[in-house]
Amino acid sequence: MSWDASTRYGCAVADGGLALVQDLLNTIPAGRPRRPDLLADLASAQGWSDVALTDWAGVTGRPAPRVELDERGLDELRALRADLRSVVGAGPEHSADLPVADLRTAAVGLALRADGTVTLEPRGQGWRALAGLVLTEVLEAQRADSWRRLKTCRNERCATAFYDRSRNNSGAWHDVRVCGNAVNLRASRARRRAAAAAGDR
Ligand SMILES: [Zn+2]
Repeated sequence: MSWDASTRYGCAVADGGLALVQDLLNTIPAGRPRRPDLLADLASAQGWSDVALTDWAGVTGRPAPRVELDERGLDELRALRADLRSVVGAGPEHSADLPVADLRTAAVGLALRADGTVTLEPRGQGWRALAGLVLTEVLEAQRADSWRRLKTCRNERCATAFYDRSRNNSGAWHDVRVCGNAVNLRASRARRRAAAAAGDR
């Protein structure tokens, strides 16, 4: 499996189809040196989508929809990414005072399969199919209680999405050595500067 957007940042990747949601979140420009925004233009977004859908088919064993993006689709995909970033990692304690409103909708159908399972199948073409697939994976992760383990790194300069495999779901950094130490170092420098400034007075 490649999950190019997530693995370029060294993020722990979610199991199964949830990794598609994570990969979309990780199309953002981040890291040092700065990696490109994979949704910066149509060619790059189409390339990301093709690889990510192949990866999704690989982990789920289901056929991926064929998605051809256009400029409108690119805008919609960026907006979906922004909406997902605004809610990922928001547990009940964060969302209690948020209004209950639809950020996004997508059309899906129900399919009864020969093995007796029922699956949600995205409807529509292009970006609509991709958005339906992404929201279906969010739904399934919420049902499986793995959604709360998908988080964005607490280092605001990083903000990449990682899958928290810690026993008590307490992880805050996509990589504690890269981001945890850097943030702690900045905080301790700021404390030292504040202490020195107080001493000068
Ligand atoms: Zn980070």
